[in-house]
Amino acid sequence: MQFEDGRYRFSGVDLLSVADEFDSPLYVYDANTMIRQYKRLQDAFGDVKLKIKYACKALSNQAVLKLFRSLGSGLDAVSIQEVWLGLHAGYEPSEILFTPNGVSFDEIKLGVEAGVVINIDNIAILEHFGHEYGNKVPCCIRLNPHIVAGGNQHIQTGHIDSKFGISVHQLRHVERIVKTYDIRVNGLHVHTGSEILDAGVFLRAAELMFESARHFEHLQFIDFGSGFKVAYKDDDVTTDIEELGQKLGKRFREFCDQYGSELELWFEPGKFLVSESGVLLVKVNTVKQTMATVFAGVDSGQNHLIRPMFYDAYHHIVNISNPTGKPRVYTVVGYICETDTFAWDRKINEIREGDILAIMNAGAYGFTMSNNYNSRFRPAEVLVYNGKAQLIRRRETLEDLLNTQVDVQIGNLQTEKVSQNF
Ligand SMILES: *Cc1c(COP(=O)(O)O)cnc(C)c1O
Repeated sequence: MQFEDGRYRFSGVDLLSVADEFDSPLYVYDANTMIRQYKRLQDAFGDVKLKIKYACKALSNQAVLKLFRSLGSGLDAVSIQEVWLGLHAGYEPSEILFTPNGVSFDEIKLGVEAGVVINIDNIAILEHFGHEYGNKVPCCIRLNPHIVAGGNQHIQTGHIDSKFGISVHQLRHVERIVKTYDIRVNGLHVHTGSEILDAGVFLRAAELMFESARHFEHLQFIDFGSGFKVAYKDDDVTTDIEELGQKLGKRFREFCDQYGSELELWFEPGKFLVSESGVLLVKVNTVKQTMATVFAGVDSGQNHLIRPMFYDAYHHIVNISNPTGKPRVYTVVGYICETDTFAWDRKINEIREGDILAIMNAGAYGFTMSNNYNSRFRPAEVLVYNGKAQLIRRRETLEDLLNTQVDVQIGNLQTEKVSQNF
């Protein structure tokens, strides 16, 4: 979001007029920011054969999937439904990595039928996979190196109690299964968590992966997952992508020389690619002075952006209707019948009823974690692309809430059709 000519903008487009046109609450994304982040990661790795698999659980709108496809990205899907969304957006099956956790073998089978790259994170499934497909379908193996890293315990995946991945200490067992069933392991994968600050963590994980890779002959890629930290506050330290690219790139090339073939280096970032690109625009319904604070109550809540309540995440908030107003201290809360506080004690330019606030850094895990609690409609979504704000998801209606419900006769009540447009 830039401040130009007295207005907050995405690539020149005035966000206040976007809110005016499409109403609130509204997710708005800036394609240029996504493109910039994608290129930044790509450039950081120089001449390494880098493949970026966009982790679509961060933001899975078709327009966004198509945007990344147009840049040459692949896709990281954690459910068969994400696989299908990716295929629908036109990704080649071979460009989609399917990394489910804790699924039944039936879901793995659907992945094989779809022709995507299968990533296995559990010994029992690996054995089942070998039994079913032998050497006919290759697979990637998700290892857990037990490196503890990441923002908070909710988003760490590498620790010893984690449900993710096959422990590196079980490598001997993996080898036995691979050999017995003649499984073709085409890749190794690691994802140590979210919000990893230190390039050193990736490098430590990398050494363990290189070590493990010696046990597999047919590797085509090593996937280092994601976990790049982005800035939520102005002074937040972020993962130094350029440093990572240089150091990991160098080690990777050395490893490839030893291994004897030029492997691909994969990453599957979500947050890094889309977080900064998005804002949630909300309208202030009430300004309520209590004995202790001033609440700004907005037309949204934990049903639309749950990160502040779920992860205790900080999201910067800007009053785009009153950019030069005198700053005052506010507690910004939602309209859900829960304590859904977006922000405590924030200095924000004076807030008046009807003002539009921009909740920043809402591109990742915003809309995709939204729900209909309190039977509220989820927000619409707009993409600023080629200098134009375009609707990429319409606002929901009462019909959407009723769509999947089945009419049954209850007592002697007549079920009534919705007769009005709300
Ligand atoms: C969630 C997830 C990602 C993306 O993580 P970010 O922190 O959003 O970059 C990548 N890979 C896997 C397997 C994931 O589960």
